[in-house]
Amino acid sequence: MSINLTVQQIFSWATRLSAQQDYQALTYKFLELLVEIPWIDSAVVYEIYNHERKKSGETSIVRELLIRRFPLDFTRNNEDHNDLLAGLDHTTDLNLSAPDESGFHAWAIFFVRGSGGPERAIHLEGAFDREMLELLDRLRGVYRNLVILHDTKERDVLTKLPNRQSLDARLLQVCEHYRDHQIIDTKEEKSSWIAILDIDHFKRVNDDFGHLYGDEVLLIFSQLMEKCFRYNDFLFRFGGEEFVVILNLASQETAVNVFNRFREAVANYNFPTVGRVTVSIGLTHVDGISMPTTQLDHADKALYHAKDTGRNRIILYEDMSVLVRDNDHSETELF
Ligand code: GH3
Ligand code: MG
Ligand code: MG
Repeated sequence: MSINLTVQQIFSWATRLSAQQDYQALTYKFLELLVEIPWIDSAVVYEIYNHERKKSGETSIVRELLIRRFPLDFTRNNEDHNDLLAGLDHTTDLNLSAPDESGFHAWAIFFVRGSGGPERAIHLEGAFDREMLELLDRLRGVYRNLVILHDTKERDVLTKLPNRQSLDARLLQVCEHYRDHQIIDTKEEKSSWIAILDIDHFKRVNDDFGHLYGDEVLLIFSQLMEKCFRYNDFLFRFGGEEFVVILNLASQETAVNVFNRFREAVANYNFPTVGRVTVSIGLTHVDGISMPTTQLDHADKALYHAKDTGRNRIILYEDMSVLVRDNDHSETELF
């Protein structure tokens, strides 16, 4: 086996990769391109999240690696990928299996670091000699640069959470899933839920303590989100002091409980200098019928009802009476 690459081939790769409009499309294309190479048998990308988590019933905080296989299948519970990355040397960009007698490695794991998003690991199986590994390392470099560009565009600068633009794309995907697999029984742990979370009286935080402390509250708030929600939920900064969560694989009861737990975690947190902060949450079921914009509008209506009825609480849109739903406060918030 030899590499035998033409200049045309290399330009074709560069063009195909750089034509992709977002991180997801880029990564799909990258994997497609890798498995077209004859000496690569399989290629998988993993996203590695370094989470701090408080185990239930315990007071100490544990650090754990959460590893998602790309693309994340939000309709399934976690397959455990921790074995794969355990025992690897995380201080280098490349980990290799021991070479065979002819000097070929059967697997290679390349790390992609330095973007605003999670660390990525590319796991390749095949037969790789030194020259092939050098080529793969260059390809990794191109992919990495493009990942950094997409992460910059798709993530919020302060919290590093996916931004509003990413939410629109993700919500469309989730809605399309439910359009194809209609799930009616929200008592089963199979539904998805969308919530808008808006920090209460945040303007006062800025007015009383200044924007820098306001920003710190936003950052800590996003970290609390990452601690409270699961690996297969999607978190976003919607804008300003508003965040969105798409909660997957949950019944209505579970969803309300999970958001209540998060609301309490915020209310009980002692924010540096600022002290206590509360959050109001508007929640609705993601179905396969309504448009994504309608679902967001429902969550927004529920949020405004939560604000109207005392703040630091959760309102489920499905629990609101028609009269309250139509008492529309949200139109002034649309733009
Ligand atoms: P409510 O309980 O009704 O939500 O009241 P509120 O004060 O939170 O809501 P309002 O929409 O009146 O104010 C939101 C404030 O959030 C105003 C704005 O200055 C602040 N804000 C928005 N984005 C940022 C940011 O990135 N950093 C900081 N520090 N403040 C921000
Ligand atoms: Mg707001
Ligand atoms: Mg607010």
